[in-house]
Amino acid sequence: MDFGWTREQDAFRQEVRKFIADNVTDAVIEEMDEGYVPSSGGQKRGARGPFATALRNKIDAKGWLGISWPKEYGGAGKDRLTQYIVEEEFSRVGMNVGGGGGAAPAIMAAGTEEQKSSYIPKLIKGEITFASGFTEPSGGADLASLQCRAVEDGDFFVVNGQKIFTSAAHNATHIYLLCRTDPDAPKHRGISILLFPMDTPGITVRPLWTIQNDPPAPPGTTYGTRRTNETFFEDVRVPKSALLGEKNMGWYVNAMRLNLDRVGAGRYLISVRRDEDIVNYSKGHTFNGYSIKEDEAMRDRIADLWTDAQVCRLMTMRSMSIVEHGGDFTYEGSAEKVWAPEHGVKSTEAIVQMLGPYAQLLNGSPNAVERGLYAHNLMGAFQSGINHGSTQIMRDQVARRGLGMPRG
Ligand SMILES: Cc1cc2nc3c(=O)[nH]c(=O)nc-3n(C[C@H](O)[C@H](O)[C@H](O)COP(=O)(O)OP(=O)(O)OC[C@H]3O[C@@H](n4cnc5c(N)ncnc54)[C@H](O)[C@@H]3O)c2cc1C
Repeated sequence: MDFGWTREQDAFRQEVRKFIADNVTDAVIEEMDEGYVPSSGGQKRGARGPFATALRNKIDAKGWLGISWPKEYGGAGKDRLTQYIVEEEFSRVGMNVGGGGGAAPAIMAAGTEEQKSSYIPKLIKGEITFASGFTEPSGGADLASLQCRAVEDGDFFVVNGQKIFTSAAHNATHIYLLCRTDPDAPKHRGISILLFPMDTPGITVRPLWTIQNDPPAPPGTTYGTRRTNETFFEDVRVPKSALLGEKNMGWYVNAMRLNLDRVGAGRYLISVRRDEDIVNYSKGHTFNGYSIKEDEAMRDRIADLWTDAQVCRLMTMRSMSIVEHGGDFTYEGSAEKVWAPEHGVKSTEAIVQMLGPYAQLLNGSPNAVERGLYAHNLMGAFQSGINHGSTQIMRDQVARRGLGMPRG
């Protein structure tokens, strides 16, 4: 087995890297980190700032947006390893480029021709975005027990209910909503997926602030989010054309989506960026004559983290390769979703401990190191073990689907 890249792949990586060095300027990163609010006031759905827009247009001209998606849906039709290279390089600067994002794999697999051709090209280009409406106040771990109802009324579904932790609901253009369409069926068999615009009448979005909000996490924080939401649906009328896949079969389409969502370089690279911080700090910092890089215990710890990260890189590449070859993809995404948040906690904890007590201070404190970046990253790493499916539930999936163990 050859773990190396081909000469063409290496040359392509260099091209992407050079493009990033030339074009991803501090101004773009600052605009993305701070979040863009248009001067017309309010937070426009799907709004993107002028620097990020210009950059995205340049990336599009290169054909790197949705690089592995079929040409007829706006992609470039390349293989997944080419996508991996683009994702990996852009993840280093905190950008998500290369995949189709969240809802796209499910639409591609289960959508009608009209849904595919109207949503996929816009998703690839970032012209539309989907909030994910899964979790309800009764609990996200047992997702199949969701109660948000969609009742048929002529050519429409009428939606009533509440979702919680709908992270992007305040600025996404659309929502991908899991709702119950048959309350009498066994719980996994009465769920459907509806895709519709967030400005449909009857939707109310209320902010739900996280641990990263007070004080606000500084720019550059790579884990967690400052805001998520509660979203309420009151007699929301959605045309039947919004149904994704078959009625009552949404659980199965969504399971496939979540599995694919968890694949890719981005999740592993968030951690690698933090590990690179550690290496850079350990090389450059001495305190009262103490040098991190001379401390054997610290050297061992850094080497452990780095090795751990390389294992995950191989796991993510293996997953991409399975998807590329149309293989059966069962537990791999869940395994990555266990590894990445746990590695994130280990590596952010390590850097906070290396830098000493001041690194524990949060943004706003006069003595905070780098505006509290490392302490905020540590708090966010804990968040990442909950969102997108908690670590405990992921472990359960690895046990059952990967190891063939019985349901607990
Ligand atoms: C920052 C953030 C962003 C999020 N974004 C979104 C989003 O955009 N859209 C969305 O729909 N959801 C989102 N979520 C919700 C997330 O998916 C849920 O929080 C997660 O699935 C856990 O659900 P819960 O919080 O209701 O915990 P619960 O389901 O109440 O579970 C509580 C705890 O018990 C554990 N547990 C429960 N059942 C079992 C079991 N059978 N075996 C072992 N352990 C178990 C869980 O792991 C968890 O630790 C987000 C969450 C966070 C924190």
